[in-house]
Amino acid sequence: MATAHKGSAIDKEALRRKYAEERDKRLRADGAAQYKRLESEFSDLATDPYTPRTEREPVTDHVTFAFIGGGFAGLVVGARLKEAGITDYRIIEKGGDFGGTWYWNRYPGAQCDTASMIYMPLLEETGHMPSEKYAHAPEIRDHCSRIGRQYDLYDNALFHTQVTDLEWDEGRSVWIIRTDRGDAFTAKYVGMGTGPLHVAKLPGLEGIETFEGKSFHTSRWDYAYTGGTPEGDPMTGLADKRVAIIGTGATAVQVVPNVSRDAKELYVFQRTPSSVDERNNRPLERDWFDAVTGPGWQKKWQENFVANLGVGFPPEDLVDDGWTDLGKRIRAQVIDMPPEERTPANIMAAFEDADNQKMSEIRARAEEIVGGEAGEKLKAWYRQLCKRPCFHDEYLQAFTRENTHLVDTDGQGVERITAKGVVANGKEYETDCIVYASGFEVGTDFVERSGYDVTGRGGQKLSDYWSGGMRSFHGLHVHGFPNMFFVQQNQAAAFIANYPHNLVDHADTVACVVSHAEEQGHAAVEPSKEAETKWVEFLLTGPGARIGNTECTPGYYNNEGQGYGEQERFALGHPAGAQGFFTHIDQWRKSGKFEGLEFR
Ligand code: NDP
Repeated sequence: MATAHKGSAIDKEALRRKYAEERDKRLRADGAAQYKRLESEFSDLATDPYTPRTEREPVTDHVTFAFIGGGFAGLVVGARLKEAGITDYRIIEKGGDFGGTWYWNRYPGAQCDTASMIYMPLLEETGHMPSEKYAHAPEIRDHCSRIGRQYDLYDNALFHTQVTDLEWDEGRSVWIIRTDRGDAFTAKYVGMGTGPLHVAKLPGLEGIETFEGKSFHTSRWDYAYTGGTPEGDPMTGLADKRVAIIGTGATAVQVVPNVSRDAKELYVFQRTPSSVDERNNRPLERDWFDAVTGPGWQKKWQENFVANLGVGFPPEDLVDDGWTDLGKRIRAQVIDMPPEERTPANIMAAFEDADNQKMSEIRARAEEIVGGEAGEKLKAWYRQLCKRPCFHDEYLQAFTRENTHLVDTDGQGVERITAKGVVANGKEYETDCIVYASGFEVGTDFVERSGYDVTGRGGQKLSDYWSGGMRSFHGLHVHGFPNMFFVQQNQAAAFIANYPHNLVDHADTVACVVSHAEEQGHAAVEPSKEAETKWVEFLLTGPGARIGNTECTPGYYNNEGQGYGEQERFALGHPAGAQGFFTHIDQWRKSGKFEGLEFR
């Protein structure tokens, strides 16, 4: 039994009951169907406000490697392939430039949530020193362009272009790629990095189309209306406006302080509070940066972060932030246990104690900073990893401003939208502008979210192949889909605390496999059926998917409280966690044997 851990002063049972009550209040029969797609339902809200679309002739040529998605995945794979001597690499991107999520999300205050030193890819290769511990979006977007320029990725790129169809031509051993611009070109290899959170959603509220003021989703911020810039210049257009923000997730936490600063009145409509811990952002100094960097530094930092979130006892914590803090607390409790008591059950109990302690501190923070009724309502009643943990030093503070009003809805959410504003708790709040900080589609299947299907060897559709759930080898290769690389986190490291680490690592594998195929003159590479099956069976021996816990408050992590079905249990990572995967794949690459892959 885990008995005498630190944190046991908290009444665990009472807290579990409170968490369950708060969750139950928020469960709804319609689950994820409560949301509407921005694209399909409100096309005028979905257009690209940042870059004008230019007409061009359809492309009908051939490239060695085509990559779908111009975010971090497409950029890092491109960089590694260029380093490996693959010169004709083409990125196809639906936005008007590189950046992916950082192209679209230009809302004021957008900032990375994971330390720039490990979050921003290829810092060592580009020589860029992040300006802050947590860089803001314009710097990250610039960095994407920097990578694009340094590796000549702009030359061949197709922007404002969406893939509509991807088909393997067995006779020629090429992929045929068709797009909404009439393109029909071929590529020997394809990569896909369309991201997990790129399809914006709106709450399916009655009357949403009747609102007569201005409204937009946070990923389509309209600076022409608000004034200001993504760099943080005052949004003078809001000085005489009453603004509503719907949603209080990770995006809203960053948006609220800025709108609070500039708007005449701000109403923040809250259904579930986020846990908001301290951020402690600070500028990075050149002397410090030079002292801590050297050949191989970024990989070392990334690996150190992973180790600090794992179960080992790393000697140092280079990143030292809110993510590693939780890991350290758990380890501190485990160290207190005599070795014979370190059973999985006791470690889980230590995890719960550490979590309870952390969440109590986060709730106390809301009380101290905001106080009063709003301070109470801003307290999050769930375990920290039930929702995306947030970190900010100005969010809670914003609610102490006279113009900023928290409209808590006790878990019920906004009721409807009228021509004049927002109705919540039976009251209409008249507003000039509604900002939907309502998130992105998660949990729909890959084909539905990416907008195209893939036809592999023998006419096999990816949608059919995965109809019972994802099946892959290392999360990257799929049997029956030769020369295709799926650059994402599932069935691999599944490392949520530093998403780009998953991509950078896969990029190394892609370059390693493609270089080998090219050097040996192979036409195609794909995993054997046996290797794929073995890999998936191995993954299933682990603790299972880390998301989808129905004990948690509803949200996209657990399919709005309904949990994920049979198919989604395959959206999981290595049984030994991210560190387990990264260690495994590093050895796999170094072995040079390409075990599990078949070249022909
Ligand atoms: P989320 O899905 O996390 O948040 C959506 C918000 O909308 C929730 O607060 C939700 O409430 C609320 N909502 C939905 N319907 C209603 C309604 N009818 N009434 C009131 N509120 C409603 O989306 P975000 O865009 O905030 O974040 C998505 C993800 O993007 C994050 O989890 C994170 O992974 C990533 N992100 C990363 C950042 C970074 O790294 N810097 C910054 C921002 C986002 P409820 O919680 O009750 O469902």
